Amino acid sequence: MKIIMLGAPGAGKGTQAKMIAEKYQIPHVSTGDIFRANIKGQTPLGMEAKKYMDEGKLVPDELTVKILLDRVAQDDCKNGYVLDGFPRTIPQAEVLTEALDKMGDKIDYAIDVAVPDENIVNRMSGRRACVTCGATYHIVHIPPKVENICDKCGSELILRDDDKPETVLNRLKIYHEQTQPLIDYYTGKGVLKTVDGTKDMNDVFADIVGILG
Ligand code: ADP
Ligand code: AMP
Repeated sequence: MKIIMLGAPGAGKGTQAKMIAEKYQIPHVSTGDIFRANIKGQTPLGMEAKKYMDEGKLVPDELTVKILLDRVAQDDCKNGYVLDGFPRTIPQAEVLTEALDKMGDKIDYAIDVAVPDENIVNRMSGRRACVTCGATYHIVHIPPKVENICDKCGSELILRDDDKPETVLNRLKIYHEQTQPLIDYYTGKGVLKTVDGTKDMNDVFADIVGILG
């Protein structure tokens, strides 16, 4: 099963993608996580991506597409995957469609996690991410058991630099301009499913399971 998560930054794509990955036993592939791991490791890719990410801009398509295609060509992706944060532009979607087409394959579901803009700044300013394992929490809606400590691995939780309100507004603007058109793109392919992302995370997940079966 090949799944794409669509939705504004902070809509809950990552939260749901991790739950899907666990239930359906497929890898969770997040381009944002790949970039952040490269920034942490101070690789050339990380240094290049950071320039864009810090300003809330998209990393150029050429760079992003290559990273993604290399990742999904790995063995563990043979039986499917859930993509979180890719594609984010029409050209990225077209490259993915073509690459799958060549293998006689296609995306099965594009799930749009719909959350109005008014909720997004609150979601993102409250997001806390684990510096070690990447687990995410929300200080009000999905708090860790101990303040600022990851439930899963015990490391410190941080506010991502690009989750500060001024950057969030820029990311939201870019989302509307460049990523939202993907909703029409995948509607045209007959695979778009929309879920109400304002519900509690377990209720959103139940709706997704209702779609995926
Ligand atoms: P995305 O991957 O779309 O950027 P995340 O999954 O990281 O978004 O979620 C953004 C923030 O909102 C996080 O702090 C997360 O814990 C919180 N969150 C996710 N889903 C919900 C939900 N259904 N209700 C309330 N908060 C949520
Ligand atoms: P995310 O973790 O999905 O919120 O992504 C964090 C940041 O990484 C984004 O704001 C972009 O700067 C960059 N990024 C992640 N995925 C992509 C993508 N598919 N295309 C371009 N930039 C991306």
